[in-house]
Amino acid sequence: MKNLLIDAINFGLPYAYEGKPAAYIPELSKMNPKHLGVAVVSMKGEMWYSGDSEVRFTMQSTSKIAALMLAIMDRGEQYVFSKVGMEPTGDPFNSIIKLETMKSAKPLNPMINAGAIAVNSFIAGANIEDKLNRLISFIRKLCHNDKIWFNEAVYKSENTTGYRNRALANFMKDANIIDGEVEDVLQLYFRQCAIEVNAMDLAMMGAVLAGDGKSPVTGEILIPKNIARLVKTFMVTCGMYDASGEFAVRVGLPSKSGVGGGIVAAAPGKMGIGVFGPALDSKGNSAGGIKVLEYISSKLDLSIF
Ligand code: GLN
Repeated sequence: MKNLLIDAINFGLPYAYEGKPAAYIPELSKMNPKHLGVAVVSMKGEMWYSGDSEVRFTMQSTSKIAALMLAIMDRGEQYVFSKVGMEPTGDPFNSIIKLETMKSAKPLNPMINAGAIAVNSFIAGANIEDKLNRLISFIRKLCHNDKIWFNEAVYKSENTTGYRNRALANFMKDANIIDGEVEDVLQLYFRQCAIEVNAMDLAMMGAVLAGDGKSPVTGEILIPKNIARLVKTFMVTCGMYDASGEFAVRVGLPSKSGVGGGIVAAAPGKMGIGVFGPALDSKGNSAGGIKVLEYISSKLDLSIF
């Protein structure tokens, strides 16, 4: 496995050189585009890694799957999906257009920004701090890492430039989709996106999903099986935004990307994979990371299809 991961990084590197770190959140543009790392966690909790697997980066949209699981555990599936849909969009992750052109203003799914901002507003807690602490302690369990916290500089950077997310949230408040105050929801969302992890943390989270919600290290059930299944389904249909179709053909694993350069993937019953490469392609997915996953999936015949 170690050799396979070294080969996967070498395969992915030339593609990483073609991408660029996200610039619309200014702090993210400082990331080193040459970084590329991968980590794997098996169902028995064995771990392997290669490349820049210890470099920390912000979860960005990879956090959306954790927030969704917590919101469903807090409020129930029925409530959450009375406000957010289950269909892929074919539009970019931050697109606003369907909110107004669809008959109901319900965001199409919980993986695009609009849906994820709505989901954030359903997380239980007395105030933002309480909700954030609950979310972070859940993510710590999923990643089996007690040190996880959020990056203040990245949070501030998005908070001062997140005009489009503010527009999405205000539109949804008007349409009665989100609970609570718009600014509170955004403050939680921006902090959630800035939660810092490394490739190993994402691999661990992928392994929990691959094991239907069970921690590969402690054996504890962290997520009910039906919720793990639901989230993996969204990862397949919407996890890579408007690149989800091609990714399903080429990699064939439930996966979720983020503009911080991370991708979390789950090979059901086999392993979790975390990749990190901040140079992004035109759809906002890690350019090298996708290739690393493609290499591993084809060599180990992991596609679920
Ligand atoms: N924080 C980012 C945003 O809302 C997350 C987007 C992403 O990772 N695709 O724009």
